Amino acid sequence: MGELSQIGFNKPYLTGKEAHYIEEAIHSRKISGNGIYTQKCHHFFRERYSFGKCLLTTSCTDALEMAAILLNIQPGDEVIMPSYTFVSTANAFVLRGARIVFADSRPDHPGINENLIEELITPKTKAIVVVHYAGVACDMDVVMDIANRHHLFVVEDAAQAIDSYYKGKPLGSIGHLAAFSFHETKNIISGEGGMLVINAPQFEQRAEIIWEKGTNRSAFFRGEVDKYNWVDMGSSFLPSEIIAAFLYAQLENLEDIQRKRKQHWQQYEQELSKAILGCIALPTLPEYASNNAHMFYLTCGSGEIRAALIDHLRNNGVNAVFHYLALHKSPFYESRHDRRNLPQTDRYSEHLVRLPLFYELTPIQITKITQLILQFCNSYPN
Ligand SMILES: *Cc1c(COP(=O)(O)O)cnc(C)c1O
Repeated sequence: MGELSQIGFNKPYLTGKEAHYIEEAIHSRKISGNGIYTQKCHHFFRERYSFGKCLLTTSCTDALEMAAILLNIQPGDEVIMPSYTFVSTANAFVLRGARIVFADSRPDHPGINENLIEELITPKTKAIVVVHYAGVACDMDVVMDIANRHHLFVVEDAAQAIDSYYKGKPLGSIGHLAAFSFHETKNIISGEGGMLVINAPQFEQRAEIIWEKGTNRSAFFRGEVDKYNWVDMGSSFLPSEIIAAFLYAQLENLEDIQRKRKQHWQQYEQELSKAILGCIALPTLPEYASNNAHMFYLTCGSGEIRAALIDHLRNNGVNAVFHYLALHKSPFYESRHDRRNLPQTDRYSEHLVRLPLFYELTPIQITKITQLILQFCNSYPN
């Protein structure tokens, strides 16, 4: 097996401009946060996606923590979210003392089953957090309707959902708040990085204060107040200009990055749907959702099939990986969970496998991977 035949799961893509912009940020001698590159990034997002107020953060985790503070989550409050998600979705609210009420995933997709949300609402419920898994939208009309009728807030965990749409509306523009990630495993990256989007105007002013360590420093720099003071709780959520400069280079190339990733995704789908896979299902996209090609995943018929497929690919130099372990069964939360069964969450947790998907993947490599999968399916005992 030669060096060439090794295909990793992810390879962060560089546009070539990152180092140049970082150097400019350094030479400007304005290296801390909220400088020119931060503003450029905020401007880009507002223009392209008509988001409300945008605030870059050091991670999506931080953006979610800001959301929990903004929503004034108190000990004992309940927050409804899927169990099939990354720990940060839940941790941000647990840090404020919330009880997490996990909802199951959809049978056709790992996103939250919108039809199961309403029965979980109690007088203590404060918020619904949806996760657009693989960049595929949750049914936001249904979610927003439930939230409005029960006076709840909606947070979109849009970590994987950049440049993806629900009925033509950009994800991250629909909930009261939304959190994005620019971690190196996402489509658009800055190493570590994230962003909070504030679509509900009543949160705008306070968001900026929380972002600036609980001070009205931003208002001070705009000349709106004559000194800056400690006015609320907050923390150090804003990234340095070095990170924003890196991110801006990526944003300038967003079209190209997205075009390439979608080509790869479509090639996977075409080559795999030519065959009847039997023991493996392809991803399905609800009619209302666009595809931002964040991820190409398969759902195997059983945990044994998944383990055998991952082995088969690894033995042939391809690194495919599974994804989340269900949070309601985690060592930290199992004893706090109300013991409801979440069968779809368990199924994705045990059966889902992600294939390599990154800019520099070649059509030849993708064909090699799909051939290996077809070969596996043909030989797997049914
Ligand atoms: C990546 C991811 C996060 C965390 O993002 P960070 O920027 O690494 O903090 C949160 N939620 C989901 C669904 C993610 O995929």
